[in-house]
Amino acid sequence: MAGTTFETRHAQMFPRLEPAEIERLRRFGRAVRAKAGEALATAGVASPGLFVVLDGRVAITRRDAHDERQPIVEHDAGQFIGEIAQLSGRPSLVDVTALTDVEALLIAPDRLRAVLVAEAELGERIMRALILRRVSLIETGAGGPIIVGRAADAEVIRLSGFLARNGHPYQHLDPDAVDCAQVLIQRFDVDESELPIVLCPNGAILRQPSDHQLGRCIGLAGPIDAERLYDVAVVGAGPAGLATAVYAASEGLSVLVLDTRAFGGQAGASARIENYLGFPTGVSGMALMGRAFSQAQKFGAELAIPDEVAALDCEGGADRYRLKLASGESAQARTVVIASGARYRRLEVDNLDRFEGACVHYWASPLEAKLCAGQEVALVGAGNSAGQAAVYLASQVKKVWMVVRGESLAATMSRYLIDRIESTPNIEVVVRTEIVDLEGDSEDGKGGQLSAVRWRGPDGQEEVKAVSHLFLFIGAAPNTAWLTHCHVELDNHGFVRTGTDLAPGHPSLHTSRKGVFAIGDVRAGSVKRVAAAVGEGAQAVAAIHAYLANA
Ligand SMILES: Cc1cc2nc3c(=O)[nH]c(=O)nc-3n(C[C@H](O)[C@H](O)[C@H](O)COP(=O)(O)OP(=O)(O)OC[C@H]3O[C@@H](n4cnc5c(N)ncnc54)[C@H](O)[C@@H]3O)c2cc1C
Repeated sequence: MAGTTFETRHAQMFPRLEPAEIERLRRFGRAVRAKAGEALATAGVASPGLFVVLDGRVAITRRDAHDERQPIVEHDAGQFIGEIAQLSGRPSLVDVTALTDVEALLIAPDRLRAVLVAEAELGERIMRALILRRVSLIETGAGGPIIVGRAADAEVIRLSGFLARNGHPYQHLDPDAVDCAQVLIQRFDVDESELPIVLCPNGAILRQPSDHQLGRCIGLAGPIDAERLYDVAVVGAGPAGLATAVYAASEGLSVLVLDTRAFGGQAGASARIENYLGFPTGVSGMALMGRAFSQAQKFGAELAIPDEVAALDCEGGADRYRLKLASGESAQARTVVIASGARYRRLEVDNLDRFEGACVHYWASPLEAKLCAGQEVALVGAGNSAGQAAVYLASQVKKVWMVVRGESLAATMSRYLIDRIESTPNIEVVVRTEIVDLEGDSEDGKGGQLSAVRWRGPDGQEEVKAVSHLFLFIGAAPNTAWLTHCHVELDNHGFVRTGTDLAPGHPSLHTSRKGVFAIGDVRAGSVKRVAAAVGEGAQAVAAIHAYLANA
């Protein structure tokens, strides 16, 4: 496994604690014993916490597609067992078995979070190990669900994307490529029309699950306590929402964060953010947001992902709001932070939906790049997100046709990106051009294979260009439909009005509803940037404190 995290960061992944450090940890945990052969944790079952081995030896194993155990690593005295799931008590991704009689210190998730906050240096080493172990599991797919279905199937792409964007390991088995996929199909008596199926680590099998069903099956989100009154409910786990979660939870407020799909929001879709302060060599959106997600968990914010907020209910009285979820559940909070951002705009082409998912994409992550490696693709858009995506894709595909409606890129894109596009030989920009039709095999509804796009150029002439994938980066519309019942004031474009935009002297980030705040891209007049979203996320916490103090 040369070059993997397991190889290159082994020492940081598996540190050995000094006896004095273990002594300091004792007040956070309780002693437990296990007999040789006994399980300390089971894949797919909620994990009791982090184990520090005091005496004896344990094996960490993963299950493969045949449900057989494969070794990952063994631990003995001074080493600890766990990865990022242990911060929140989510299901274990691995099996942990005592090889000898074992004595260990068990630190439950809430006490583990206390360790990370109270023990700065030791906490940093433990946190780094937990994160690296998760990264390593993602690299090998170990411990996650197994998706069985064809690689080009739009549903397989959706499920893979959902897991990848939630930083969750998974394996994908294509029945056309690997024999054991066929074995699983036969073993579970699956009809071709039921593909893809997902095998969860707890043994459950799902047929064409929704994101929510899959999330529940692997324990990403658990049931929500409808009676618990949180100090803050944050709707959206993009950079704005995660910033509020980190600052509010670290200051002792109880926080619930809900997101329809994954943490990271639009920023999670960015292949490389180069203008975020402190990252001179750039950082991928997933890497930045993954850190923020872990940080929010470290401070004890509760994250319900995937969980869509269907409506804000204002009828509970002035001191509380109820969020109605698409799942039928609900959550209550004294304050609500609207951080639901914006979603991509779709192209006005009749048959677009037939190719969405499989060949029309709104993200340009390694997942999509792999699908179109070595092929020609078209990309529509002229903003910075389009520029970043074009540069990234150009490194993976044969050619990128960049289709721009305006006269040039200059009015809408940063100079550094224009320079980079100009110096990339396999990006060709066509200006004053619009896509008017998509061609390909799309007979049976969704998931069709694109073979060409037809575009209309400056002289009105139409041209057909053979491309296999189309990427759309044509702006975004605010996610505010869930606010309509509560009459939170919106501007003409649907963005949430706050502060002096509502009335002179109206406090900043406050919406027209008391105790309801709006931050980030969803807020009218906000700067649509990661740094601005993060800044507003932090600023909102001061506003929440002030509001709660006077409520
Ligand atoms: C491809 C791309 C590249 C970019 N590159 C850069 C860059 O290099 N530098 C930069 O500064 N900015 C960049 N941006 C812009 C930046 O990502 C956004 O400004 C930023 O993500 C806004 O953050 P946010 O938290 O306000 O909203 P979002 O990032 O939009 O997050 C909102 C979240 O709310 C969730 N949500 C929506 N509705 C609901 C609901 N009803 N219930 C529950 N959850 C809901 C969504 O799923 C989403 O996760 C880029 C954007 C894109 C798309």
